[in-house]
Amino acid sequence: MSDFKEDILKGRVALITGGGTGIGKEIGRTLGRHGAKIAITSRKQENLDAACAEFEKEGIECFAMTSDVRDPEAVEQVIAATLEKFGRLDIVINNAAGMFPAPIEKMSYNAFKTIVDIDLLGSYNVTKAAYTAYLKEHGGCIVNITAPFEHWGVSSMAHVAAAKTGLMSLTRSCAVEWAPLGIRVNSVAPGFIAETEGVDRFSEKAADEMDKALKGSKQDIANTVLFLVSDSARFISGMDIRVDGGATIDLLRMPVV
Ligand code: NAP
Repeated sequence: MSDFKEDILKGRVALITGGGTGIGKEIGRTLGRHGAKIAITSRKQENLDAACAEFEKEGIECFAMTSDVRDPEAVEQVIAATLEKFGRLDIVINNAAGMFPAPIEKMSYNAFKTIVDIDLLGSYNVTKAAYTAYLKEHGGCIVNITAPFEHWGVSSMAHVAAAKTGLMSLTRSCAVEWAPLGIRVNSVAPGFIAETEGVDRFSEKAADEMDKALKGSKQDIANTVLFLVSDSARFISGMDIRVDGGATIDLLRMPVV
């Protein structure tokens, strides 16, 4: 749960990519608990159905539609369908991402490209489609989920680090271009978040190392997103907020993957 008032997003509509699982699902639930209507999209219908059923049990209005964020036309269709269903789109959360740790020498050309395609180009596709279909006329908020790798060389994460650092840069460019239109664009960089696919995919050795580091919860990330899309953050744009308990500024605590 968050400490914010229940109705701070009343009447607003939020689209969350990758909203059927993990951090994205927690973001959807949290924004929904604070009054937003929720649209979620990802590739697997079963992920979306399960999340929607959970949300609806809590009284959160939810719309789900499959898409691959790498496909601009599919993304445009999701945004059009969300607008048809709810009549507006105030908040876009680019959370969909791929993840598999791999050292560069073992990573295929295609593996690197796939992560850039999903995390960076996919987020661009959703951002551009939402801007064109609704945000440029009405304003709104975009939050990109990144990772805290922009200043470090992180072993086995070259693909993710490159894609997410690009996404931070896209965040700033959109924030600057669209500030006059009332569109705020920020990003949130989670540290190691317990009980997520992202962390589960590390090796056992890395997981042991990680236990020594600080681990956050999905709710920690959702609460940060909630603040950023709320009116309390009305003058914050173009920022990347690292939510990692300080782990990345303590070199001794960073696990070796
Ligand atoms: P997750 O549960 O695997 O979330 C990724 C989501 O993206 C899934 O719902 C997946 O659903 C969707 N997705 C993947 N490829 C897609 C595509 N091509 N098109 C549309 N949707 C796609 O992992 P998570 O750990 O919660 O991660 C959520 C976000 O947090 C990611 O951006 C990740 O990089 C970031 N992050 C996580 C951590 C962590 O500790 N977990 C740390 C730093 C950053 P489908 O399979 O149904 O498509």
